[in-house]
Amino acid sequence: MAYWQDRGKAPTACVDTFGCQQNVADGQRIMGMLQAMGFTFTDEPARADLVLLNTCAVREHAEKRVYGNLGALTHTKKANGAQVICLCGCMAQQPSVAKKVRESYRHVDLVFGPHALWRFPELLYQVYTRRGRVFSIDDEPGTIAEGLPVVREAGVKAWVSIMYGCNNFCSYCIVPYVRGRERSREAECIVEEVRGLVAEGYKDITLLGQNVNSYGRDLGTGMDFADLLSRIDGEVEGDYLIRFMSSHPKDATPKLFDTMARCPHVARQLHLPFQSGNNRVLEAMNRRYTREKYLELVNYAKDVMPGLVLTSDVIIGFPGETEAEAMDTVSLVKEVGFDALFTFIYSPRPGTAAAAMPDPATRAEKQVWFDRLLDAQNEISARQHAAYVGSTVRVLVDGESGDERWPLSSRTNGGRLVHLLGSRDLIGSFAQARITDSNTWALFGEAVE
Ligand code: SAM
Ligand code: SF4
Repeated sequence: MAYWQDRGKAPTACVDTFGCQQNVADGQRIMGMLQAMGFTFTDEPARADLVLLNTCAVREHAEKRVYGNLGALTHTKKANGAQVICLCGCMAQQPSVAKKVRESYRHVDLVFGPHALWRFPELLYQVYTRRGRVFSIDDEPGTIAEGLPVVREAGVKAWVSIMYGCNNFCSYCIVPYVRGRERSREAECIVEEVRGLVAEGYKDITLLGQNVNSYGRDLGTGMDFADLLSRIDGEVEGDYLIRFMSSHPKDATPKLFDTMARCPHVARQLHLPFQSGNNRVLEAMNRRYTREKYLELVNYAKDVMPGLVLTSDVIIGFPGETEAEAMDTVSLVKEVGFDALFTFIYSPRPGTAAAAMPDPATRAEKQVWFDRLLDAQNEISARQHAAYVGSTVRVLVDGESGDERWPLSSRTNGGRLVHLLGSRDLIGSFAQARITDSNTWALFGEAVE
């Protein structure tokens, strides 16, 4: 592009990604495309020729942060009139957001949603050549673009999207509106990507999808997610672990858990979001399983995979939820004994079914229920972690911890964080760790022969 060839130096981009791992994976492909166009990267918006915010729309808080950041970019753009500002990701796919940006954030040059990710170079070319604003948020039929370049984080961890979109329309959730219907990648492409990552030295690979348990339904090949796991495990050789997220309980099956138990490369970790422990609330959420069905699933999974690390997502304060119903969620947490939870207070998302439901409980009431949930989970996490003390476990050392007493950061097979005393030479490899201490959030130990 003539624009920067004339300047005699490579242009710089600052990419800021918000939200879930799917967004992180998208951000890595955006960086891949930028790198292929000749950009280098900076963390400082003020020094960048191009600033891109890759946004999340799942909760209101995330959107507010993005508007704050967009506001601050008026200053960088004032200082550098040629700076190009891009907004993409789930927030950008919402017509109301695009309208607001069009009218009130006139310094933003390019807006595109997840559907148009693969068209980013073309859209950017339009910005540079037309020198006008470009908006691309049309709800296009789902395209899966294979072979986009990726800039991955150095280290041992990598993310692989196996499918895009969601068909479930949980009543509180914006994702199906902004990411479209489910589209699965061909198994061959996924297996090849994992093979390439293992050959490059990645050892902790997470397969991503909004509901990996419906993988393959749209392909019509008869292959399901358990079959995909089996295939990767059997066909990709090497010392590595496969994780996945998220699993929807309505589609999780004993076949999946049996496959996990049988495949040595599949980590003993299951993230199975239950959202609520009350059947009336689950129905209002359109989750399509009951508390009893959920308990049956996790009990089966624990039986076939001793030592399984179980995590989940929970929402407190869904519209119309009563204190007793919220306490059903706390009782489910105690009954299952999760290793960790991702906990959220309900956030209304315009256009979703739940946003139109009466929501009489106050924010202060919801906060009290939420705090009770956190107290219950913190006590369980501390207890689960204390049970590791004295044992020796295999860990993958993934970097430095920033704490001189335990300089290394590592993860167990089940994904538990272990701060480790040992040589920095271990970074990037599997090691044995003797666990000497623990707290609510982590284990502490020393590397042993
Ligand atoms: N597809 C995944 C699943 O079903 O488990 C989750 C995707 S969503 C990005 C991650 C989590 O955000 C959900 O599991 C839910 O707990 C939470 N979440 C989604 N919408 C929310 C809302 N409106 N308010 C609060 N939390 C929400
Ligand atoms: Fe949202 Fe439900 Fe789809 Fe997860 S499964 S992305 S919570 S609609």
